[in-house]
Order: sequence, then structure tokens, then C-alpha cells
Amino acid sequence: MRSKVAITRCCSYSRDAVSEAVRTAVDLLGGIETFVKKGDKVLIKPNLLSGNPPGEAVTTHPEIIRAVVELVKKAGGIPGVGDSPGIGSLGKVALKAGVKRILDEMNVPLVDFNDMVTADNRAGYIFKRFEVARAVMEADVIINLPKIKTHGQMLLTLAVKNNFGCIGGTKKAQWHLMAGVDRLLFAHMLLDLYLLINPELTVVDGIVGMEGDGPSSGVPREIGIILSGTNCVAADVVLSEILGIARDDLPTTRAAVIRRLPGVDLGKIDIRGEKLNEVKLKNFILSSVRHVGWNLPPFFSRSMVNLLSSRPRIDQKKCELCGACVKSCPPKIMRLEKKQVIIDYKRCIRCFCCHELCPRGAVKIQMSLIRRLFPGLAEKFEQKS
Ligand code: SF4
Ligand code: SF4
Repeated sequence: MRSKVAITRCCSYSRDAVSEAVRTAVDLLGGIETFVKKGDKVLIKPNLLSGNPPGEAVTTHPEIIRAVVELVKKAGGIPGVGDSPGIGSLGKVALKAGVKRILDEMNVPLVDFNDMVTADNRAGYIFKRFEVARAVMEADVIINLPKIKTHGQMLLTLAVKNNFGCIGGTKKAQWHLMAGVDRLLFAHMLLDLYLLINPELTVVDGIVGMEGDGPSSGVPREIGIILSGTNCVAADVVLSEILGIARDDLPTTRAAVIRRLPGVDLGKIDIRGEKLNEVKLKNFILSSVRHVGWNLPPFFSRSMVNLLSSRPRIDQKKCELCGACVKSCPPKIMRLEKKQVIIDYKRCIRCFCCHELCPRGAVKIQMSLIRRLFPGLAEKFEQKS
């Protein structure tokens, strides 16, 4: 069966405009009743990375969540909204992101992901077991609500990547450690996790996304769409096309192509609603992070890879010494010393969690010295995925 993706235009976060666009996007896939039956426990999973106000485009906008909750209730489902923020408690993040107020108005609970269960994933391509939030495994229906954003490590965070939030707090760091600098391995992990969770429906907040150094320190960019789909890989393939990014440059899609998963072939996706050509963006700016690795000769050492790759740099003037980066660094190679954050670059795995989670935007992306001096040489070894 062809994967279905629907695109609707929406250029404002006004309640009515979002409600109409989300409803149309879901109707184009057959309507909410196709996914939610009366009495179903429905877990809605937005991107609640950190406690930023909606205008900063870090989190899924609260009006998208409201529109989806309304649809779920209309179908007789029992909605809950959950995520595992990268920084801060879910309650505080939801409050600052404007989500708590809307959920209180609608009498919908916030669902904590700290209670985790081990889920066997025998069908996994590489990863056969995950610790996932209990609420995710016990839901009858999962609705995935990603936000379109750039991402230092994985190029973009879209539909497949949004499922990573179903792994609670510190466990995420362990996955970064396990995959190390290998983005393709990390992408395979994200795919295995997505296929385990397998959300019935994805509704993407593409009204205002984030370009530049996302997923938390980039710049809001008006895109003007809501996209819905039943297959996250297909949704990401269509989104890449809209953003002007080659399909295989997105590591999760590249991994899906290697596995020949359904949804990787743009020509075989049943795209409904707006015409793809009419919603394509020009000049979408990606993260300044540059990775190297896959095509380096085997004799290249880890230190040489590090010399060619971008690296995190602390802007000491902006840094408020909160320690969030030190706490979240997977290999624990950051420390606070003499009122400064120190990074042991030799052991840095270039995961950019510190960049993603710094609440002050004080972790910058620095181009390597070799790249600055010999841009052609470094580009030769650039790792697209
Ligand atoms: S760099 Fe950011 S996260 Fe790290 S201590 Fe400074 S303000 Fe906190
Ligand atoms: S310093 Fe930053 S990029 Fe390096 S390992 Fe730690 S969190 Fe990852």
C-alpha cells in the first residue's frame, strides 16, 4: 500500500486557523475516526525539548496540540500529552511552552515519561531492546507531533526523530554514547525505535519551523504548512523535499533507504492536499555543524576526525554556569572549573547535546581549524549521513 502524506497551508497560529488546517490534514488521510476509536487511550507526543515560549519555535506550538486534542475527544478517545524534555521537568517545560495552560483548559493530563519499561524489539534491524516510557507502550494510539527544526547531529529533527523523546531522561545519553560519532548507527537506532513505537498518526507543526543552529538556538522560519502522515519515513521524505534537502542527506532516511523501508521513494508516496511544488521553500538554512567520518581512509585516527569536524565552543560571556551541559554530556567530558566550562575535546563524541540543551544559547558551533584553512580538503571527507 502507498504511504499517504497530506499537506495543508496554514500561516498563523490563531486557534481557528490551526484547528481548520489540522482537521483538513487529518481528513485528507481518512479522518480522525480512522485512527481513534471510542474509549481509546491516546498518547499525544509533541516536541517539548525545553521550556521556551512558543514564539521561539523550539517546541510544538500549543495550538497544534489543542487542535489534535479536540479531534481525539471528538472521536471519543481519551487523550494525554507526554514527552521527556531534554532539560527541565515536564511540568515546568509545558508551563513555559504554553502547553500546560491549554491542557488545563481542556482537562487533559500531562503524562510523565520517567516510568519506563523494557520493550523487546525482536524485529529490530540492529537494536533489539529499548527502555521506553510505560505510557507509550500502554497507549492504544500514539499521535506524533514533531516540529520542523534543524539539528546539529542529525541535520533535521522531523517525524522519525521525534520518537526519541519516548525514551526517558538520562537513558537518551546512553544511546548517544553507544552510537558515538557514528551518525548512521544513531539513525538506525532512531529507525528501530520509531518502528517499535509506530505512531498511528503524525501531524507536523510546520507553520513556523527553525533554521540555522537548531534544535534550540536557531532562528524561527515561516514555512506555512501542516503536514500529516501515517508513515514517518514518508513524511520525512516529503518534508526534505519541501525544505530543499536531498533525501539521502537526512541520516534517518538514508538508513531507511539502506533497509528499503516503505516510504523512501518520493514518487510512490500518495501526496494529498497542497501540491508539493507550491509549498517548497527556498534557501532553508541548515546547521553550521559539519561532520566527517564515513569516507575517511581507515588509517585516519579519531583525533584526525575530530580535527576535521565542527566542535562545540562555550561563549563564556553568555554562559551562566548553570551546569546543564555538564550534566547532559553523554561521555561526561565537560566540567565546571574556575568559573568556566571546560571541554575535553579529545574525548568529545560530537553529539552536540550540550548545544541542544544549553538554555542560554551559550554553546556555539565552531568550524575546525583545518576546515577554516583548507575548506576544500575538509569538504572531501564530509559526512552527509
Ligand atoms: S554553557 Fe549553557 S548549559 Fe553550559 S553551563 Fe553555560 S549556560 Fe549552562
Ligand atoms: S562536549 Fe558536547 S558535543 Fe562533546 S560529547 Fe559532550 S555533549 Fe557531546
